[in-house]
Amino acid sequence: MRWSSQELQTEQVGALPGLARLNNLVRSVQTPEFAGITFHEILCKSALNHVPGQSAMPFGYTINPYRGCSHACTYCFARTTHQYLDLDAGKDFDSEIIVKVNVAEVLRKELAKPTWGRHPVALGTNTDPYQRAEGRYRLMPGIIAALADSKTPISILTKGTLLRRDLDLLVEASEHVPVDLAMSIAIYDDELQQSVEPGTPTTKARLATVTAVRERGLDCGVFLMPILPFLTDTRAHLDEALRRAKAAGATSVLYSGLNLKPAVKDWYLLWLAREHPELVGRYLELYAGGQYAPKEYRTWLAARIKPLIRAHGLERGIVDPATGGLRSSALPASPERVPTSVSRTPAPRPDSSRLPAASSGRGSAGGGRPAGGRGPGPGRGPSLEAGPGAIRWAQSAEAPRSLIAAELPPDLAPTLF
Ligand code: SF4
Repeated sequence: MRWSSQELQTEQVGALPGLARLNNLVRSVQTPEFAGITFHEILCKSALNHVPGQSAMPFGYTINPYRGCSHACTYCFARTTHQYLDLDAGKDFDSEIIVKVNVAEVLRKELAKPTWGRHPVALGTNTDPYQRAEGRYRLMPGIIAALADSKTPISILTKGTLLRRDLDLLVEASEHVPVDLAMSIAIYDDELQQSVEPGTPTTKARLATVTAVRERGLDCGVFLMPILPFLTDTRAHLDEALRRAKAAGATSVLYSGLNLKPAVKDWYLLWLAREHPELVGRYLELYAGGQYAPKEYRTWLAARIKPLIRAHGLERGIVDPATGGLRSSALPASPERVPTSVSRTPAPRPDSSRLPAASSGRGSAGGGRPAGGRGPGPGRGPSLEAGPGAIRWAQSAEAPRSLIAAELPPDLAPTLF
């Protein structure tokens, strides 16, 4: 195999103390095809990650075939997880990628256990399962097949257009289990998108992926997360975003403002100082109280976007508090009535001619440049008092809260992965 010749020497691996500590590291490889990125292939001991909740059901389960993400979004809140490996939350997160090469095999064994309850499993709640490495390692087909074969509902959130490669498998899986798909598309200004998410496919390509999913008869939500204060929170940008999501065939939309954990905040502010130095002071003020923008901002944002969501006829999706991802369609509205097994009528094949045509035109309301404009923001624009918080959490007071969700104020949706 061509990559064999790219294998790093043991001494080089040893230069990464956290990784070297892993006794399941198989090898580390670099290749010209992925310049600047090192893949650390490991043999994982478990594939399913149980996200603890505060109540018994529903349990949240996730799978993360990769750690680190070459999509390199500057705002990514999963960055902090790299610090557990003595890697940094900045460049290392983008370029030192852990690959669980045996994840599908281990998963299949875990799902075969008689104790497995066929709980919905979410992918993409931490790092992106369809990041570039997936084109090489092809871990997702084995994961999807293992989940479908075991009648386990599947939820996938991604920025990766590589999802299209697996649509046949996902359509087939949907004939046996609920399959919930969502694309994360937050930035509708091409220049800004390439700057703040430098390793991701374009917005246009991701919207085309939404359309491709819909044409195969599956629902596809759009995660409008995170909305960046003073950059993408203008009425014009939000209107443009929702118009294009709708035109692509999105079946629901979820949104939230930016959440900046400490290490992520440092990395994001470095980018901001480079690209938008005039905004640094305003961000420092907005996030002076911690990792969240103040409630006044969130309330203001909700009041701005909710009428637009209604105007575009995009019902909001529901966040699964157990995983931080899209709530599985296998789950009922009330967490107390979670089924232990599921059945589902296969998704009808839509008449693709009835899907709205994708368009690259400008916003229908508000006009003007969709992003990069300086939105009014708190204290500078429309009323701050209107509207409740941005996202409804699971409606029951007994809803479990994941490690991710538990960190969030009740009116703030989880950031993506
Ligand atoms: S936000 Fe998602 S796609 Fe972007 S770097 Fe993080 S895990 Fe990857």
